[in-house]
Amino acid sequence: MGAGRFAPSPSGPLHIGNLRTAVLAWLFARSTARDFYLRIEDLDRVRAGAESVQIAELEALGLDFDGELIRQSDRLPLYLNAVDNLRSRGLVYDCYCSRKDIAEASSAPHAAPGAYPGTCRNLSAEQRAQKAKERPAALRLRAEVNEFSVQDEIFGNFTGVVDDFVLVRNDGAPAYNLAVVVDDAASGIDQVVRGDDLLSSAPRQAYLAQLLGYQIPRYAHVALALNEKGQRLAKRDGAVTLEEITEQGAHPAKVRSFLLESLGLPGENLQAALAAFDPSQLPRDPWVVKPENIVQQLVPPASRNR
Ligand code: GLU
Repeated sequence: MGAGRFAPSPSGPLHIGNLRTAVLAWLFARSTARDFYLRIEDLDRVRAGAESVQIAELEALGLDFDGELIRQSDRLPLYLNAVDNLRSRGLVYDCYCSRKDIAEASSAPHAAPGAYPGTCRNLSAEQRAQKAKERPAALRLRAEVNEFSVQDEIFGNFTGVVDDFVLVRNDGAPAYNLAVVVDDAASGIDQVVRGDDLLSSAPRQAYLAQLLGYQIPRYAHVALALNEKGQRLAKRDGAVTLEEITEQGAHPAKVRSFLLESLGLPGENLQAALAAFDPSQLPRDPWVVKPENIVQQLVPPASRNR
């Protein structure tokens, strides 16, 4: 039996788009008899208190998780072991580029869009020593391919760029792509369900998994929630978190029904949705959310709190 997961970054409350992704990840895992883990991706963008708020939100929707809560900050040695493994095989190099250096170099003609241009890949020992006086090094993967293909439940066979991406940031913190790959493998996760903003990261992650001898997970990148302007849903769009909606009088079960129905599933409870869940029938388009309409739909005017 494999496992799926939901892996929020504790940067604040989850908005309904994130919660919809969590519900989907749960449905994907439970409909395939997988375990389902919660992993807090707290190497970056941490806001005090956000972790417990997010857990309470997921519980309020009735999602259940297996095993212990996983926190990336508890697992630093695991990531560094993986880097040592790669380093011993000559697959890691020091990079001294600033964001600005990279932006300038990647705007040069012939540079692959979104790919690290390789500025520090072949520095001589002298050049490295010189640059090391100016700033600390990040560690990059010496990738031996330019692209890699993954299988996605929604997008099918997807091929995307693999560049010399960062493994360890220049402040010493493991980078997102490294941590995700190591964590998924360490937890036996073989099904990755998340927002489709991360689809373009999947080839890098799958390639890294393969280099480390891990099984490459099955992916399902699901449509994100967008505002009416077609931008990613965010706080500025209005009442978008579970708290904001429930404060106005909607019970969390109503919010859950709303999310399930937006997926074309029966809304009465998770079990009914699970019985009807069929990935091939999921909506492919982004979910356009009008926050001011949610409360109108979910709460009769007489019981509205504002
Ligand atoms: N922590 C990431 C996020 O909240 C998700 C990472 C993943 O699912 O691979 O966007």
